[in-house]
Amino acid sequence: MTTLAGSTVIRRRLRVTGVVQGVGFRPHVYRLASEIGLCGWVSNDSGGLIMEVEGPAEEVSRFERCLVGEPPPLARVDAVEATFLRPAGLAAFRIVESSPGEGAPTFVSPDVAVCDACLREMRDPADRRFGYPLINCTNCGPRFTITIRLPYDRPNTSMAGFTMCPACSREYHDPADRRFHAQPVGCPRCGPDVAYEPGQGTGELAVSAARAALRQGRIVAVKGVGGYHLACNASDEAAVSELRRRKRRPAKPLAVMVRDIATARRLGQVSRDAARLLQSVQRPIVLVPRRPASQTEPSVAPSVAPDNPYIGLLLPYTPLHHLLFDWADGPRVLVMTSGNLSEEPICYEDRDARDRLGRIADGWLTHNRPIHVPCDDSVILAGDRPIPVRRSRGYAPLPITLPFEVPPLLAVGGELKNTFCLAAGRRAWMSQHLGDASSAATLAAFERSVAQFTRFYSVRPEVVAADLHPGYLTRAWAERHPAGRLELVQHHHAHIASVMAEHALGPGERVIGFAFDGTGYGSDGAIWGAEVLVAGYREFERAAHLRYVTLPPGDRAARAPYLAALAHLRAAGIYWAPDLPPVAAASREDLGVAAAQSEGRLPGVRTSSMGRLFDAIGAVLGLCPRATYEAQAAIELQARAAGNLSRAPAYRFAIDGEEIDPAPVLGAVVADVRAGRPPGEIAAGFHLAVAALIADLAGILGCRHGVRRVALSGGVFQNELLARLAEEKLAQGGFEVLTHQMVPPNDGGLALGQAAVAGAAA
Ligand code: ZN
Ligand code: ZN
Ligand code: FE
Repeated sequence: MTTLAGSTVIRRRLRVTGVVQGVGFRPHVYRLASEIGLCGWVSNDSGGLIMEVEGPAEEVSRFERCLVGEPPPLARVDAVEATFLRPAGLAAFRIVESSPGEGAPTFVSPDVAVCDACLREMRDPADRRFGYPLINCTNCGPRFTITIRLPYDRPNTSMAGFTMCPACSREYHDPADRRFHAQPVGCPRCGPDVAYEPGQGTGELAVSAARAALRQGRIVAVKGVGGYHLACNASDEAAVSELRRRKRRPAKPLAVMVRDIATARRLGQVSRDAARLLQSVQRPIVLVPRRPASQTEPSVAPSVAPDNPYIGLLLPYTPLHHLLFDWADGPRVLVMTSGNLSEEPICYEDRDARDRLGRIADGWLTHNRPIHVPCDDSVILAGDRPIPVRRSRGYAPLPITLPFEVPPLLAVGGELKNTFCLAAGRRAWMSQHLGDASSAATLAAFERSVAQFTRFYSVRPEVVAADLHPGYLTRAWAERHPAGRLELVQHHHAHIASVMAEHALGPGERVIGFAFDGTGYGSDGAIWGAEVLVAGYREFERAAHLRYVTLPPGDRAARAPYLAALAHLRAAGIYWAPDLPPVAAASREDLGVAAAQSEGRLPGVRTSSMGRLFDAIGAVLGLCPRATYEAQAAIELQARAAGNLSRAPAYRFAIDGEEIDPAPVLGAVVADVRAGRPPGEIAAGFHLAVAALIADLAGILGCRHGVRRVALSGGVFQNELLARLAEEKLAQGGFEVLTHQMVPPNDGGLALGQAAVAGAAA
């Protein structure tokens, strides 16, 4: 068929996969096709986006180039499949309703921070959405957390119960409008609204009541995108310590929301990376080096992050957050911590929140748009360079591309900071952060989330991968799971495989992996944690590890660094003299039990944990005899070390075959403590010694195995000082160093490695 002008008319069917739903892709296609003057249609289906275009051949190819080259800002095009059809004289371009249709599983868009255009409208007294706390558009707003099923259309979201008013409906159906097919669209007339209790205020009254309560030092539960936050004025020491008391969270740092980037810069050292992350559409909590509290304006209460070198900052990401800050009568810095009790999952259902947070919150700033999928804030550490600490809101459930094809599988993750990974083909969908999976509440959240993911992506796992630890509830769950074959993956092997997968290493490649963390079940039944592996996806060799010491069973030692110190001192042959801080911190009974355990007269746990060695050194320096949150001693040790590198003493581990012996380091540290050397210098010396150990072992193993690639993983590498020192030394030795950029080095990244190991074995 030819047109009058003589060019050939063609008709093409295009299937676009990637992040293409809920990001304004259909209106984008509509505008593009209309501009070029093509006929046809576009629709969402469960496989992504499907369209047909008809017109002169060169115009159609221009359309296809633009489609891939200039997608909407929040979209990510992974693939376009195109086929030729016989031209059918299609009518003018239109958007057609979604059909559930067949096709490969697609993507659910993550939640997106409110955009500037929406904020301008919210602040414009002449706009019909002036002051509307749930304003959103095609470019911003909730996505993942309101999705009930796919395709992503309004009846399949939490907005199903809200009928659009004529004005909203006009915008929704107008291809030229920013809200064309924006599923969560609404306004003060037809959409969800906020409310404050006590009192009956809604809308603006509710928000100003919440501001007043916060100003008066109250604790307010604020319903957000992925769940409830507990908020209080971060400048108010009494309010912050009361929140800690009620939440039973003595010292673990609390995140602080600030109104803008200028305020963030006054509270912390905001690097260029940190500023970019703070202002990104994902809006994570960004951990930055804090400025001395006495010098900041506005001030931050000491108990926000006691003895911590970092402060966790985030910018407002919902319109409601902005309304809390927009007015002069509101606080300037807000503690915004997950609405939960200690390590339980975040509260997201209104009734459950009332039950569980009832004793903590004085007031409730809520809204009536249901949250369907809970999702905590993400956390990224951004000192020297970004290290993911928690991959959750804003990132989940975007898939990570695997370097090779895997069968449909589910990796259930570890226990602490649990996430799971659903994978099929080359896609790995990492779940949002779920929490400590040793509790029944988290396991229930895990189970619900697994069901959601498998339904969203229609993946039926044939393989279920779990950690080797016989005591993990996730492993027990995997064993009960009816689907397919069970694959047990050693903890530290999974850590290393996780970095390998992130860096797209092929199935035949090998690395020298340093997996340093607190605890992971070893193939010999001991608790491992300072593991040097020569590893591929399919197998690993444990080439070296820290010499075992015996610690009390359970997690008691993790909470009492002085116990780790007693065990390490004894193993190093150092007498428990009462002048040593960990000995002074111990009771007579502690000493008796510790001695009996190290001599095998009482049951204990044999461990090669690097986390516990950091604890031991911290305790010998008298920093942190008792820890109230994970890795507290290590964080304090790192804080002391920074700035003291040039004055650091030289310590050295002994390497004896496969065993790394810390005795020489401990001996020198104890001598320096007794000689009155400043703790900061000793801490710096210890960091340098661990970095040197890594470089030395890489040198030895690199030659022996002909491997020039080193992977660093495990929670210990959240210590950015250690990570940087190790990387520098390895680079000097000519090694390529792989570190985490997508998933956390801690156990939150474990599931990706489990998926890669199980997938490679399949
Ligand atoms: Zn918007
Ligand atoms: Zn409306
Ligand atoms: Fe671990």
